[in-house]
Amino acid sequence: MNILFVSTEAVPFAKTGGLGDVVGSLPSELIKKGADVRVMLPLYKSIKDEYAPSMIFHRAYTVDLGWRSCYCGLFSMEYNEVTFYFIDNEQYFYRDGYYGHFDDGERFAYFSKATLESLKYIDFDPDILHCNEWQSALVPVFLKTHYRDNEYYQKLRTVFTIHNIEYQGIYGKEIISDVLGINKKDAGILMMNGDVNYMKGAIVTCDRLTTVSPSYAKEITYPFYSHGLHTIIEENMYKLSGILNGIDYKAYNPYRDKALAVKYSKNSRDKKKINKARLQEELGLDTASDAPLIGMVGRLAEHKGLPLVTAVFDRIMENQVQFVLLGTGQKEFEDFFRNKAAEYKGRVAAITAFSAELASRIYAGADLFLMPSISEPCGLAQMISLRYGTIPVVRATGGLKDSIEPYNPATGKGNGVRFDSINAHDMLDAVKRGLDLYRQPEHWQKLMTNAFNTDCSWKRSAVEYMSLYELITL
Ligand code: ADP
Repeated sequence: MNILFVSTEAVPFAKTGGLGDVVGSLPSELIKKGADVRVMLPLYKSIKDEYAPSMIFHRAYTVDLGWRSCYCGLFSMEYNEVTFYFIDNEQYFYRDGYYGHFDDGERFAYFSKATLESLKYIDFDPDILHCNEWQSALVPVFLKTHYRDNEYYQKLRTVFTIHNIEYQGIYGKEIISDVLGINKKDAGILMMNGDVNYMKGAIVTCDRLTTVSPSYAKEITYPFYSHGLHTIIEENMYKLSGILNGIDYKAYNPYRDKALAVKYSKNSRDKKKINKARLQEELGLDTASDAPLIGMVGRLAEHKGLPLVTAVFDRIMENQVQFVLLGTGQKEFEDFFRNKAAEYKGRVAAITAFSAELASRIYAGADLFLMPSISEPCGLAQMISLRYGTIPVVRATGGLKDSIEPYNPATGKGNGVRFDSINAHDMLDAVKRGLDLYRQPEHWQKLMTNAFNTDCSWKRSAVEYMSLYELITL
């Protein structure tokens, strides 16, 4: 089975969130299952500057995009036994940042078209193209439009994974003929409420549709979660499934993590305290205090539940806790936490930056990890917390619901604390329940053991993906 992942992020080359983690780790798990899995990425400036000397140049060719004839250079390199291919076009990708440019619709249409054209030249013959998010959504669309008379391309099967339905790639309808070069009679594939919607195009044209958790697969059939796509999702339910992401157990391992002050495991969990003390020192938090430390790491966006946290922040702080936030995003939230850090000197730390090392130290040093998302397709941060023995407090949505089972003191089962409604006081109550457990060592140790014992590896999900691939290539 030959599978080509088409993605605009993969660790270690490019990451803005969970997509980078998934495409950086799932391929090697699938390789262990006997598949030949490779990855196609854009050759962004940051990648070219850092990795170009280690890359092999394959060849250059021309990619037609509407009326344009675009240069494409194809490079590759091995990383952790996975072959990564890179699409080089400096006009589109030699810029700072991955997304957010005025011509993103054109840049990623080019990436999708160039990926399909590259199949004529690479030393790899995929059975399946596994596309991710709106940026590679045009791959199945182009297969059904530009390549429909080509026998080789018609044999290819496509899987399209929605990691987050909020970002769909919506553009004015001029883009259809100007950039995509798609005929009027095929335009309906992409049209949605008068606009072009790349993700909608992939949903209707792919062979199998997946999301990153079973609960999210249900949720996106509801208007509340679907960002307008629920009817399209419902029409395509027959090919939809939810497969929970895993995390890279090598990368996220408190026993091997070089960013930590002291390495530890389930059996040496006492050393977590040393990590907590060092983190407190590093962030200027009061070290003499034995206050429970609540951590948050993630994008500061509304759907991550930040409005719930800001609404009751002072009430949380009434519970003799310390709080650390690492995240970037909406300015109002960055400002909020910076102000709170100034107001609660020695008790609140706010770092509005991106730092994988500090993130590790927070996963290791915190006692509770707060993730009150309004919507969460899968969420990796709660799984990383479990791996580091830090107890997640989450809202029951998407992958949070599928990975965190509320702790039940009567049975000793469960690996975290959960609340249901999108309500700041329910969240506050959940935090208090977590703090209550923290103050009962017997329960807390059991809860930590359950967290450490939770299997968040890719093993189970890799088996599910393999079955899915086998199903469509039969
Ligand atoms: P999303 O993909 O929606 O951003 P996930 O929880 O699935 O959320 O994945 C987020 C990933 O990005 C986690 O690995 C998390 O540790 C990391 N991350 C988010 N913000 C930061 C930050 N400011 N610094 C370091 N790592 C971060």
